[in-house]
Amino acid sequence: MALPELASDLESLHQQGLLRTRRVLESAQGAHVTVDGKHYLSFCSNDYLGLANHPDLIAAAQQGAARYGVGAGASHLVSGHSAAHHELEARLADFVGQPAALLFSTGYMANIGVIGALLGRHDAVFADKLNHASLNDAALLSRAKLQRYPHLDMQALDAMLAASKAPRKLVATDTVFSMDGDIAPLPELLALCERHDAWLLLDDAHGFGVLGEHGQGALAHCGIASPRIIYMATLGKAAGVFGAFVAGAPELIQTLVQRARSYIYTTAAPPMLASALAASLELIAAEDWRRRHLGQLIAHLKQSLKLRRWHLLPSVTPIQPVVIGPNAETVAVSEALRERGILVPAIRPPTVPKGQARLRISLSAAHSIEDVERLAQALNEFENR
Ligand code: PMP
Repeated sequence: MALPELASDLESLHQQGLLRTRRVLESAQGAHVTVDGKHYLSFCSNDYLGLANHPDLIAAAQQGAARYGVGAGASHLVSGHSAAHHELEARLADFVGQPAALLFSTGYMANIGVIGALLGRHDAVFADKLNHASLNDAALLSRAKLQRYPHLDMQALDAMLAASKAPRKLVATDTVFSMDGDIAPLPELLALCERHDAWLLLDDAHGFGVLGEHGQGALAHCGIASPRIIYMATLGKAAGVFGAFVAGAPELIQTLVQRARSYIYTTAAPPMLASALAASLELIAAEDWRRRHLGQLIAHLKQSLKLRRWHLLPSVTPIQPVVIGPNAETVAVSEALRERGILVPAIRPPTVPKGQARLRISLSAAHSIEDVERLAQALNEFENR
């Protein structure tokens, strides 16, 4: 056994300020949470529209549990596929303007499933350097060649695609980058995929529910459509529940049912979650005020922060990162905020590049202007310390 080796590895993470710890929440997550008996204003959650604790979703989950029980009991292809799952897939496809959709248990599994189903060892995946880890892991697991291009660098991608001899090519990108909040140039990416005959896998984890006039996500936001687009979105963020789906051409979806291992070899998510998601989808589409309010919060944060040494990244999404740089300083600021009753996560390497540790502020429609004001004042003050 090599426990001393593990202990010294952990100690080295601690020395570098990289040891991750978990906070134990004693309340529902949201703009206000309780940890260790204390109340905090929180900017940690991806519940961008403030739907995770919505009474309609809770009631729908309860009704779903009353009808289906709490566990699906089997994988989708055995007997775990309920009417709630089936109806939700049709509604999701319709909402994002795609012919068909397939639910996965998580976004991580959806990405693993898609790339593994479509590509093999002779193929190639082209990935933005700042993509989510699940896309990289998916490429590695598929045994296709993983070629990463510098963040948003379309020229570099064009050159890589042109030089590739792989029979099947797939370009994978976050639509909204999870640690930066910026948006990928989707029309340009699609044009390159057309030119080089590649699939385009779009991970809209942070765009679904947030982008587009009624929250339909990145495709609506950019006004693009193509049968070569594989659209993936997660349902544990703006949708406030759990899970993910892939949408696209019927042949693609049917191929995933037949070949995506993370779809086939796993228990279906509880049908009650699909019931809650159906309620969520209605609110996402109907309550535009949530996106308008988010927009006001984003604008207010930008106006109120007066930073000189640190900087706010140029993001128009609810992900508003303040780059501080050194790990230790970033952790210290996060800690000072916590002492003030404000939670903002410190994000360090390897999640972000070395020297670019940051506070990742996540805004939610559940926040008030006063909440944002409180955060901005604290940050302005701490920077001058
Ligand atoms: N893609 C991106 C861009 C994400 O941010 C996340 C979640 N952090 C995922 C995929 C994974 O989704 P899930 O949490 O549903 O596994």
